[in-house]
Amino acid sequence: MNAALTEAERARILAKAALFAPPDATLPDGRRDLVGLSREELTAELAGIGEKPFRAKQLWHWIYHQGVTDFARMSSIARPLQQNLAERFAIGRPEAALVQTSADATRKFLFRFRDGQEAETVYIPDPVEDRGAVCISSQVGCTLSCRFCHTGTQTLVRNLGVAEIVGQFMAARDAYGEWPSPKGETPRLLSTIVLMGMGEPLYNYENVARAMTIIMDNEGIALSRRRITLSTSGVVPMMDRAGAELGVNLAVSLHAVTDELRNELVPLNRKYPIAELIAACRRYPGASNARRITFEYVMLRGVNDSEAEARALVRLIAGIPAKVNLIPFNPWPGSRFEPSTRTALDRFAAVVMDAGFAAPVRTPRGRDILAACGQLRTQSGAASPRPH
Ligand code: SAH
Ligand code: SF4
Repeated sequence: MNAALTEAERARILAKAALFAPPDATLPDGRRDLVGLSREELTAELAGIGEKPFRAKQLWHWIYHQGVTDFARMSSIARPLQQNLAERFAIGRPEAALVQTSADATRKFLFRFRDGQEAETVYIPDPVEDRGAVCISSQVGCTLSCRFCHTGTQTLVRNLGVAEIVGQFMAARDAYGEWPSPKGETPRLLSTIVLMGMGEPLYNYENVARAMTIIMDNEGIALSRRRITLSTSGVVPMMDRAGAELGVNLAVSLHAVTDELRNELVPLNRKYPIAELIAACRRYPGASNARRITFEYVMLRGVNDSEAEARALVRLIAGIPAKVNLIPFNPWPGSRFEPSTRTALDRFAAVVMDAGFAAPVRTPRGRDILAACGQLRTQSGAASPRPH
């Protein structure tokens, strides 16, 4: 793709994202939610009530390091100012409308936002160590309709706002009592973020980028960019930008090695075919053996799981510092695919490993509560009419 075209395409994607903008951050009672504001915006809000910039630093610490939601608990701030702040501002969290815990301890939160829209967040604890991944949603529904994905049967309702994206992580931290934010190398229970929930994060780039910038800020939650992975179905023009501006880990939902099949499984491929996608992966900044790109490959029985396809896959990604996550297909009500057999999975993995790539088979987590990859879906929006 040439540079001018990419620029025009990027502008188009960002303009479209604005059409699905989240509601304003003002509460019904007129108070402004401070969660989701950048440091500069927070400083400006406080300047508006005559407060100096150091107040923004103090508030940032209370909100994102201490996790406080009540101004009265901000002991470094005098009582009259606490009261003044409480009259004008709020420190919000999405409401947990439903929390389900799987037999394997995976926990799914259904969060309801102020306009009643909902999205799901999943905490996946490590089976052995005291750490885990938080899987965050970026949109309510999704505009892309990948054939094997439950979220894809729900039409896009809207993008999530910065406060809603950061809020999913903060509310999950509330649930596990992980405040204040652990510093430096101190172990964290909620130790990584994967942007692999509902939606396509690169179709809501601005809000996702701002949210991750807040989460990475050293004086707050301070989660390193190395602990954040953004998963995309292949929005090529936005991949370079995400790499340059955020530098988080990249996961790419590949799922097929020919354009013919990928066009079917991941319809976005018709716009950004495999060759362009792989080229974008090759130039993704910061990719190295220490920070590999993850290729996600959902194993669908008899569809994309042959040894020949495994060989084609390793030829395709040759030379990219990469690993391949083989994801057993997670069924959902009405899905028309079946998971690959164990033998097919093992043979496929062996070919990929022989070529020198790690090829972990991802153990499905939280299937019993429909919390596994591709099973998330809320009631908002009509189901799309296509057959599954
Ligand atoms: N929209 C982004 C991120 C969310 S999907 C993307 O597509 O990458 C997160 C991952 O779950 C993707 O790799 C997706 O392909 C995979 N997935 C979707 N449906 C699935 C299913 N039914 N079983 C297993 N994995 C699935
Ligand atoms: Fe959307 Fe990702 Fe599901 Fe495709 S796999 S429909 S891009 S959420």
